[in-house]
Amino acid sequence: MKGFEYLHEELESMKEQGLFRNLVEIESDQCAKVVINGKEVIQLSSNNYLGLTNHPRLKEAALKAVEKYGAGTGSVRTIAGTFSMHNDFEAKLAKFKHTEAALVFQSGFTANVGVLSSLLTEQDVVISDELNHASIIDGIRLTKAARRIYKHNDMDDLKEALEETQKYRKRLIVTDGVFSMDGDIARLPEIVELAEQYDALVMVDDAHASGVLGDNGRGTVDHFKLNGRVHIQVGTLSKAIGVLGGYVASDQVVRDYLIHRARPFLFSTSHPPAVTAAASAAIDLLLDEPQLIERLWDNTKFFKEGLKNLGFDIGVSETPITPVIVGDGALSHKLSDRLLEEGVFAQGIAYPTVPKGKARVRTIVTAAHSKEDLQKALDAFEKVGKELKIIK
Ligand code: PMP
Repeated sequence: MKGFEYLHEELESMKEQGLFRNLVEIESDQCAKVVINGKEVIQLSSNNYLGLTNHPRLKEAALKAVEKYGAGTGSVRTIAGTFSMHNDFEAKLAKFKHTEAALVFQSGFTANVGVLSSLLTEQDVVISDELNHASIIDGIRLTKAARRIYKHNDMDDLKEALEETQKYRKRLIVTDGVFSMDGDIARLPEIVELAEQYDALVMVDDAHASGVLGDNGRGTVDHFKLNGRVHIQVGTLSKAIGVLGGYVASDQVVRDYLIHRARPFLFSTSHPPAVTAAASAAIDLLLDEPQLIERLWDNTKFFKEGLKNLGFDIGVSETPITPVIVGDGALSHKLSDRLLEEGVFAQGIAYPTVPKGKARVRTIVTAAHSKEDLQKALDAFEKVGKELKIIK
């Protein structure tokens, strides 16, 4: 059909630069090893931190929920789509996060957009880390509040932003808890100190900290012992929790307000019973089996040290997200393609997802990997890294 020739031109140019990507198809369940193009490879690209996506307890909970409550809910939460299990799960999440209340959204993305687009007005300002996730950026695009971006994890710049914005009614500082491309952790204790000094609100997006940091995976706020001092914690149910969804853990007043004003909550159908039941089973599992998180960190240490010893630039990561930074976008895709041929799936990530010149292959180990899997992956990195002259 005629009409989108301009899109075609842009895609052609991406192809010429080696930046066009086909979606990789997983032909198995999501686990430490997956089947791609009919071949079993080591999975280093998922966010399945604890290996829960196919855990028997989650599957059983999902199956039971389908049997009892069916496949879908047939309505948005605010009309006829709130089942008892939704409210029960939110009460469980609030208890888990040590907050008064919690509210679940369809995804972490819509949770961020829902909060940021609804809580502030033109009298307010949102102060955001420059490396925050796209869903925070999009949420900010939808708010009527003023915006001030501060340099990544730069407390001097954040202080300056707070100095500059004293005329606003409310200031909301928003940061990722763990930054998704570099794996570094927000300087939350200092952010909270500054917020208290300047009477600002704090929001943390704990997508990559949920199930990873803090006691039983409660997130960065718990990790830094800041419970009760951060106003809004967004978590995801799509990564370590192994299912799908996002949630806001906060005071009751925020939950009540979001139910009435957050548009992704108001205008999109609620989670199917299987999703809620499986996510709820995952929270129980975090409480019952904290050794899963210990394993994740043990694997993280082993793999990071291995990559570093081989001479790769792994940036500033402090978490299971370990980037292998190569600079050039086409090179990152080449590295990824060659690794796949060697039996390791680690995606190349280039501009615009990361800044130009900072292209990388991003790796994420999970609790489900064995040391043998990780050693095999390191061997493949060594072979291909030398072949492409990324390491000596
Ligand atoms: N925030 C961050 C920091 C993320 O990395 C992601 C996932 N890429 C999200 C939010 C969105 O979470 P979800 O996949 O649940 O929509």
